[in-house]
Amino acid sequence: VSLAVGDEDAASCVYLKSQKKATAKVGIDFEVQLMPADSSEASVVRRLEALNRDASVHGIMIQRPLPGHLNPSEVIRSLDPAKDVEGVHPENLGCIVHGIPGRIPCTADAAVRLFRSTNLAPKGLEVVVVGHSEIVGKPIALLLVHELATVTICHIGTNDLKSHTRRADVLFVATGVPGLVRREMVKPGAAVIDIGINRTEAGLVGDVAFDEVREVAGWITPVPGGVGPVTTAVLLENTVR
Ligand code: NDP
Repeated sequence: VSLAVGDEDAASCVYLKSQKKATAKVGIDFEVQLMPADSSEASVVRRLEALNRDASVHGIMIQRPLPGHLNPSEVIRSLDPAKDVEGVHPENLGCIVHGIPGRIPCTADAAVRLFRSTNLAPKGLEVVVVGHSEIVGKPIALLLVHELATVTICHIGTNDLKSHTRRADVLFVATGVPGLVRREMVKPGAAVIDIGINRTEAGLVGDVAFDEVREVAGWITPVPGGVGPVTTAVLLENTVR
């Protein structure tokens, strides 16, 4: 069950559509439950608790962003961690800090798996993660620290972003700023994993200026078609598990 409160933004719409298609393809029953945008936190929590108790429901997802009056941490905490197929519950995030097997947030997992497909050995690599959200940037950084990469996390407070991204052997970008990363910000030969999904007049674009960065990068993931579909695959895998 995917629980959506209010109108989904571009990214979650794309995400919902691909969830619907992908679950149908592998034979998982999928249902979107839409609650009104002005639903109270208590009513959203009650709905989640009912889904937790429902033995016919094996996985629950909460579409982001939630309307501003809802505290995402409180809503997520009311999920049963065992049904948290997206890996966003604090218990599952805590497993990453401890390096014990749990459920990794799908998008972070997908981004790291795409990095692994380069066969670069993480130990000793300079990894730069732009964006530090709980479900994308922070878990990616932790996963690679466990493998002894040297990880720098950049965000809105970073002075001179380019001086960091230029050093990166592996660059993960998850900011929601279309085309933030330009050609001159990327080290030649680097692996560039673009997590952003932004709806613009030019269609769906990532956080990386793909056409120019592809000319210098050693590897680059496209948007659409890169991290997004792999995220959906990870979600299905988690649901089956
Ligand atoms: P958040 O908005 O939660 O986090 C964005 C992060 O980027 C924040 O840490 C923010 O810093 C940082 N940031 C914003 N602007 C800049 C800037 N100009 N320079 C440096 N850092 C900046 O977003 P998410 O992590 O949830 O998502 C990021 C992107 O990934 C979005 O485009 C989203 O649509 C996409 N996404 C894609 C998914 C997929 O399956 N492919 C799934 C989930 C998200 P600060 O907090 O300090 O302001």
